Amino acid sequence: MPAIPFPKKKVPRKVALDELAILERTYPHAATALEYANDFQLLIAVILSAQTTDARVNVTTPALFAKYPTPEKLAAAKQSDVEQIIKSTGFFRMKAKNIINCARDLVERFAGQVPREREQLESLAGVGRKTASVVMAAAFHEAALAVDTHVFRVAHRLGLTLGTTPRQVEDDLTALVPRAKWGDATHWLILHGRQICKAPVPRCPRCPVNALCPTPRILAKTLTAKAKGAR
Ligand code: SF4
Repeated sequence: MPAIPFPKKKVPRKVALDELAILERTYPHAATALEYANDFQLLIAVILSAQTTDARVNVTTPALFAKYPTPEKLAAAKQSDVEQIIKSTGFFRMKAKNIINCARDLVERFAGQVPREREQLESLAGVGRKTASVVMAAAFHEAALAVDTHVFRVAHRLGLTLGTTPRQVEDDLTALVPRAKWGDATHWLILHGRQICKAPVPRCPRCPVNALCPTPRILAKTLTAKAKGAR
């Protein structure tokens, strides 16, 4: 199956708002799938979730947090021991280094507490804008919209953005969604991307946004071109 191109034009604002309203109704209780008991565990789980699934992180973190329950304990950990525990999450050497250094930053600069300000969060080892946004929204109920691979893809397919970077997509989405719902909107789009608007092939016939979304027409053209090429 060839890659489905993203729409080249944004949908009108009214259509965009209707699409988002449908997603909100479809996923009324959307929240992070990561399991955590406190802000520190959430922060570490989000760092580990890069390039892997939340389910994979959830089977990994109980052993990690049993051995290193606090930033102080993780800051003093031996990197090779942490690598062994988190190996299955991928990129485990870099992630082990990042979470140990992040724990050290928490201990040395924030008295072992997770800060709630974006600038401070992004100053921690291994924490970029997306990780900071997830933590701000989930731990502190701050207005923050995180753009991961699902949000990026679904926002494009729905015609909500033409942005080429996560930051441009975030700016387009935050211009559409009321500030109080930025955190929720992240989860509407992530859940929709995981369950229906999948990569590489979306399940358009069973999608509640099907009638408004521009991508089913693009998908049909892609399939027709593929069928002609096969003849
Ligand atoms: S209609 Fe298809 S492309 Fe559009 S949001 Fe639904 S599943 Fe994704």
